Amino acid sequence: MTAVKNILRVAVNRPFYSLLDYQCPDGVEVQIGCRVRVPLGHSVSLGIVVEITDKSEVKKLRSIQKVLDKTPILEENSLKLLHWASRYYHHPIGSVIFNAIPVLLRKGKPLPSMTVWKVNGELLDQADTLLKRAYKQRLVWKFMLKFASNDWLSEQYIQQGLASEGVMNWRSFLNQLKKKQLLINQKVDIESSTLPSVAAIGLPKKKAIILTQEQQEVLAQLAIIYQAKKVKPTLLHGITGSGKTEIYLRTVEPILNAGQQVLILVPEIGLTSQILRRFQRYFPQYSIALLHSSLSDGERSFVWQGVQNNKIKILIGTRSAVFAPLGNLGIIVVDEEHDDSFKQQHQFRYHGRDLAVKRAYDLNIPIILGSATPALESLQNVERERYHYLRLNSRPSARIRPDILVQDIRNMRLEAGISAFLLEEIEKHLNADNQVMLFLNRRGFSPVLYCPTCGWHAICQACDTHMTYHAGIKKIICHHCEYEEYAGTNCPDCNDSGITTLGQGTERIEHVLQTHFPAVPVVRIDRDTTNRKGALDSKLAIVYQGKPVILVGTQMLTKGHDFPKLTLVGILDIDRSLFSIDYRAQEQLAQQIVQVSGRAGRGESKGRVILQTSQPEHPLLLNLLSKGYLNVAKQLLSERQRWDYPPFGFQVLIRVTATDKTNGLAFLQQLSDDLSLSDCQNAGVTLWGPAPSPMEKRANRYRSQLLMSASNRVVLHQFLSQAIGKLQVYKKSGNIRWSVDVDPLNML
Ligand code: ADP
Ligand code: ZN
Ligand code: ZN
Repeated sequence: MTAVKNILRVAVNRPFYSLLDYQCPDGVEVQIGCRVRVPLGHSVSLGIVVEITDKSEVKKLRSIQKVLDKTPILEENSLKLLHWASRYYHHPIGSVIFNAIPVLLRKGKPLPSMTVWKVNGELLDQADTLLKRAYKQRLVWKFMLKFASNDWLSEQYIQQGLASEGVMNWRSFLNQLKKKQLLINQKVDIESSTLPSVAAIGLPKKKAIILTQEQQEVLAQLAIIYQAKKVKPTLLHGITGSGKTEIYLRTVEPILNAGQQVLILVPEIGLTSQILRRFQRYFPQYSIALLHSSLSDGERSFVWQGVQNNKIKILIGTRSAVFAPLGNLGIIVVDEEHDDSFKQQHQFRYHGRDLAVKRAYDLNIPIILGSATPALESLQNVERERYHYLRLNSRPSARIRPDILVQDIRNMRLEAGISAFLLEEIEKHLNADNQVMLFLNRRGFSPVLYCPTCGWHAICQACDTHMTYHAGIKKIICHHCEYEEYAGTNCPDCNDSGITTLGQGTERIEHVLQTHFPAVPVVRIDRDTTNRKGALDSKLAIVYQGKPVILVGTQMLTKGHDFPKLTLVGILDIDRSLFSIDYRAQEQLAQQIVQVSGRAGRGESKGRVILQTSQPEHPLLLNLLSKGYLNVAKQLLSERQRWDYPPFGFQVLIRVTATDKTNGLAFLQQLSDDLSLSDCQNAGVTLWGPAPSPMEKRANRYRSQLLMSASNRVVLHQFLSQAIGKLQVYKKSGNIRWSVDVDPLNML
């Protein structure tokens, strides 16, 4: 007799670490990925069926009460990945799954619809008269004519397109044009056949690009790699501007043509629209969607359903898109794979790139990890022959790599951190009709506001750190807890009127440069200037016009943007990173320098990079400039090996925060006492701490941590499970909260 599989393993919508077993009553049909209502204690809970099996260790099983879906709301592969991730990152399975699903689907609401727009062909000849005095409406109208004269256009694309033309409140203009009957709109849902293909937007076809020899070879290699029985991931190491995106386009083409789907992961929202345009232009015949955190829940549900039903063929998204239910996935691309933004730093602390590799592995499909500065982990995976390694070493056509000049600023008078030499260079490049970019990884006007008379400093009471002065809004803001207050003109302690600032952030650089070069626009790009939806696109639009501008920005600028007219890059104030206590700081600095430098000279003219430092003889800089990134990476890797740091050893970090200074530390101490020394030694696990975190106080909570490391990952994870078991039963006083970070990137 064969056993009937009628035991359901369910993830309930509660913070439990494991699945719960339930009986499926006879005659009830249910599939993996469907939602069910189950009894839980004395109440009822929503759950999702993750596995169906024929045996359970629980003696008396309870039955599910109701099946809510006929068809799964979560495709099996992404469900598997979520389940795996919950175990690997030791985060409760219910939280993992239910947070991944769009709220609308979680609540069992009907399928969302979305609004699409199109030009009303009947009134074309009257448009000029109707829009005579309405400048903005005319702008919107022209945009719609260009992109939607025959086809429906989704609001998502309209919004993006108009943002890059500087139009923000697009919806009201669309409605005004609708009133004049120039535009028509309708609601569609993902099931309907009228899903607007992005083909609709008819972007100007770019002239066909002829691949370089090097690019052709990489493509040929990839084609061979895809033939393997068991496909290994590929690390594509290509210098900035070497045409990696072109490779992505060509290599996914046959996969799309075979009817499969493509997933592209990028580290930040700011990069999605740029890569979107490249894909739209190349693949007008396929529907493409974006998935990232600033979508509304309606849009999110729409995309979620679209990929599950195979209606959307290309999905471009940030880290959480790795869980999207692509039912027919054929290839994954992770662009800028070295970027830390792929790791979520709160609650469920997963790494999007690593999970993408896992997903590709399970499906046995190709995955390409692309970067100009690969992560040390990825390079080590090449070394261990787990990944293939392909290189693009040159820039197509006449593009030349920029020179990097290290400028010693010791004993030099600086104006807001900028040397006279750099100012002269800026002027030269602007006069030659080119663009200039200054990189400084600190936003705000100045990191310190103080009183020279009595020594008062603006300190955040909740964090014990300096508050940053923001001149435009006349506020001091804590960058750790967002607390802000107005900056007075007099010292709060001695009432002296001479309070002043020390050091600079991007806002100050912007200010100084604007005074120096009043005729040239200064475009500042950092979190403060781009937090409004569409703001980044509209700022970049100014730069893409190609006229001389000065760009000032934080690491947001280091990523992926292609500015053909940019010929000079200035790098300011990197010295702090040279001496950071963080063992990853040097890797990140090397990546940043290479990435920022890569922005220069992408067009026809040769670029120049000026790096200001008071440490011109620092080995990292010397090595990077004379021997290049790969060499630095090798050196850093051998240091990591010596100390058994990742990727050689493995780490997990347990963090505790509490309102009281000593409670959290005592809580962790109890754990470390209970994990007996001999157990640790036998397992080869080392405990570091417990100790106060480097930044001990943040947002009025005291933080402490315990680091566990081991050379054997499996052992470490077993050990962690044990530790979590203990943490769950300890009594918590003083509002204690704890969290687990597997493969932590940030230990501050
Ligand atoms: P990456 O992603 O490596 O930074 P991109 O794919 O964005 O590089 O390419 C940089 C620029 O070079 C783009 O404007 C792209 O259109 C152009 N490009 C890429 N390949 C070629 C080629 N074979 N011939 C001419 N231009 C190319
Ligand atoms: Zn004072
Ligand atoms: Zn604070």
